[in-house]
Amino acid sequence: MIYRIEIQTHHRNELLDITEEVARVIKKSNIKNGTAIIFVPHTTAGITLNENYDPSVRRDISESLARLFPKSGPYSHTEGNADAHIKSAIVGSSRTVFFENGNILFGTWQGIFFCEFDGPRRREVFVKIIPDA
Ligand code: ZN
Repeated sequence: MIYRIEIQTHHRNELLDITEEVARVIKKSNIKNGTAIIFVPHTTAGITLNENYDPSVRRDISESLARLFPKSGPYSHTEGNADAHIKSAIVGSSRTVFFENGNILFGTWQGIFFCEFDGPRRREVFVKIIPDA
């Protein structure tokens, strides 16, 4: 089964904590133990796992990527969002988590982040839930 999470981003570059949304989808599935694949169907956004305790970490990730790949090139892609495509390629479009008794098996400080690189936009995240055999 594939679930969809709708997201509205508010800035051009932004990491949004979607841990609660993914946890809710897993609960809704009524599957106790399994694997969830979180996939972003966009070429200028990504998904990552990182610290969700101190919000300065997600700001550092977003701002460091913006410094590495500034909005203005030189780039070949002329839509004005070449930097966003590169950041999306580097961060990646999917992550996998495991869950047990309906709870995601995180490390102590981990959360799931939607990475916006060309916002603000309406976005979507797909979550595929695979029950243990
Ligand atoms: Zn483009």
